[in-house]
Amino acid sequence: MVTTHNLGFPRIGSQRELKFALERYWRGETAADDLEQTGKTLRLRHWSLQADLDLVPVGDFSFYDHVLDTSQLLDNLPSRVDKNADALTQYFQASRGQAGSSCCNHQVAAAEMTKWFDTNYHYLVPEFNAESAFKACPERLLAQIKEAKAAGFKIKPVLVGPVSYLWLGKTKDETDKLALLDKLLPVYAEILDQLADNGVEWVQIDEPVLVTELSTEWQQALQKAYFSLAKCRVKLLLTTYFGQLQQNLQLACELPTAGLHIDAINAADELVRVVDWLPSHKVLSVGIINGRNIWKTDLTQALELLEPIHTRLAERLWLAPSCSLLHVPIDLSSEQNLDEETRDWLAFAVQKLEELTLIAQALNLGRDSVATQLADNKQSIQHRQQSTRVHNPAVKQRCEATHSASGQRHSAYLQRAAIQQQALQLPAFPTTTIGSFPQTNDIRQTRKKYRLGQLADAEYRQQIQAEIRYAIDKQLELGLDVLVHGEAERNDMVEYFGQQLQGFAFTEFGWVQSYGSRCVKPPILYGDVSRPGPMTVEWIQYAQSLTDKPVKGMLTGPVTILNWSFVRDDQPRSETCKQISLAIRDEVIDLESAGVNIIQIDEAALREGLPLRQSQWKTYLDWAVESFRITANGVADETQIHTHMCYSEFNDIIEAIAAMDADVITIETSRSQMELLDVFQKFDYPNAIGPGVYDIHSPNIPSKQEMVELLKLAAQRIDKTLLWVNPDCGLKTRRWEEVEPALKAMVSAAQSLRLKL
Ligand code: GLN
Ligand code: ZN
Repeated sequence: MVTTHNLGFPRIGSQRELKFALERYWRGETAADDLEQTGKTLRLRHWSLQADLDLVPVGDFSFYDHVLDTSQLLDNLPSRVDKNADALTQYFQASRGQAGSSCCNHQVAAAEMTKWFDTNYHYLVPEFNAESAFKACPERLLAQIKEAKAAGFKIKPVLVGPVSYLWLGKTKDETDKLALLDKLLPVYAEILDQLADNGVEWVQIDEPVLVTELSTEWQQALQKAYFSLAKCRVKLLLTTYFGQLQQNLQLACELPTAGLHIDAINAADELVRVVDWLPSHKVLSVGIINGRNIWKTDLTQALELLEPIHTRLAERLWLAPSCSLLHVPIDLSSEQNLDEETRDWLAFAVQKLEELTLIAQALNLGRDSVATQLADNKQSIQHRQQSTRVHNPAVKQRCEATHSASGQRHSAYLQRAAIQQQALQLPAFPTTTIGSFPQTNDIRQTRKKYRLGQLADAEYRQQIQAEIRYAIDKQLELGLDVLVHGEAERNDMVEYFGQQLQGFAFTEFGWVQSYGSRCVKPPILYGDVSRPGPMTVEWIQYAQSLTDKPVKGMLTGPVTILNWSFVRDDQPRSETCKQISLAIRDEVIDLESAGVNIIQIDEAALREGLPLRQSQWKTYLDWAVESFRITANGVADETQIHTHMCYSEFNDIIEAIAAMDADVITIETSRSQMELLDVFQKFDYPNAIGPGVYDIHSPNIPSKQEMVELLKLAAQRIDKTLLWVNPDCGLKTRRWEEVEPALKAMVSAAQSLRLKL
């Protein structure tokens, strides 16, 4: 019999119960006990949903982040948390920070947050220094084990492995992280033995670093770790996911653990080699269901892959999703508004586990035992393959006929810049913003009423127009040079476009945790992408009609739309991206024809899409840049293209950024004292740059002088004539009371620089 298990279940709850419970608790409306109770209810519910599996995961649930849980398990929360506070308070101090107050609280800065491998989930970065000491604090984990056992579940606790834990963290001094391994291993050993004392047989120990390019030191660290943990009294399932093992394949097979899990979605072609290499006493867990996407599994295809392996491994074969199901929505049956056809193609966490059980049954008892289900599945797969909603020959033809030349501007930057300046007559250090203005309650209400059909088209238009007028008036008052319409009509920078393009579907409850209580609801990109009609022109044109100053058109770029959606798996991502780029290109050209002379195309997620392995970066960047160029560069020389990226690491992608050839790029820089511009300087980046001069994430109002200083620092690195003046990012999360004085100071900072020219 094959064993079925799961690597992790979404925590947030099908109605986002955890989110709301957390936020109530943080606002002080409920007590810790209430929050704990919600946690318990969700855990029990989620285990019940997994009850058909042979082993359910424990320890995957978290109030904020499982890496932070690991830090607490190892007594390695940042040293600045208040050691006298209770465990939960310390935990939230580390995750969210704590504002200081005169009477009782000292200020605690939150731990840094960063992306979990190549997903959109963010974890809290463990902190290390030479003094780091670890201690086993398994109380929370042990309590959950008891809870699951008491409820009758067969369990397998989940831990982040010691090497990945170090790899994910940062040293705050110059300490070599790997030097800490010797201190860490005895603590892991102690935890594992305590688990054994509590009747645990198997432990899933996650070492996703095995799918990255590892130096010899890191490979040796894995050896050291697992040779030392081999003495423990539990069986370890060494768990890898998100990619291929490649040069770590032999190492992963040979480490002294009782089993190995591999991601058979991303590393399907390594499966047979792994079976060949695997010592004969080991269990192999095959991650056969995609834990990162929402499509139904082709069960017949999966069986074809698994049957010969099953013959070889027999009961040493385990089955699971490729990775934790944290990255997909919980339950398709919550969706009432998806059309039947699309719905038939999808599987969320609960459905994925049903698929897993079916596959196991087909292996254990023969395909005949699940013949009907296999036939149904085959039909769904075929329908999707053949559906005219997926395939649009016109889009395919257009894509095929589009070559790099369509991504080429007529003239080189310098010539274009002169022509644009002629037309736009902008002052030196032109001022602008990144696009959105405060999303007030009124604005959200207006959109909501419209969505619910409580507001007629005409009324909705009027109300949004009033918001646009308000934003334009404010900008005129403030004296900004290039205005924006403010994005009042947009809920989200991807959803807004997805909803108007063909090829996208939207869920009601398809929430996926991004960080802490924050969730996103990625669109489902199921088919060939086309644009039935203009998406933004009306709003921008209206904004432009109110002023003689230039108003920037505002679009989301193809790479960002792709990277923030669930993407179809029946064609390469590059192909899908190209389709989006053509649809947005049409919008760019329509804006241009409507008299919009400046168009910004945001690529907030371009960097996020970088593959885990550096060896694959070039391929990705090549098609990502090409897609942007196709979108942006179909315009006349007079039209000025802006792009915006809200992150701060350009060192390793500067060539690609330059190849995008946007006339102006606005970036986040304020917190780095303009050091981020060094790479632009070194590279001799030829086009204009708007380095953010103030941090929009903080409610602090920047002073004119601070911004003048930052701009001087910028001017030491970048030719003055190429500099723009703008905030770090959009202002939608701020209030007008913060935005107005900040922008006023920003405009006068630009003015005083002009005087010094
Ligand atoms: N134009 C968008 C805004 O201002 C850009 C947001 C982003 O880059 N994340 O909100
Ligand atoms: Zn941004």
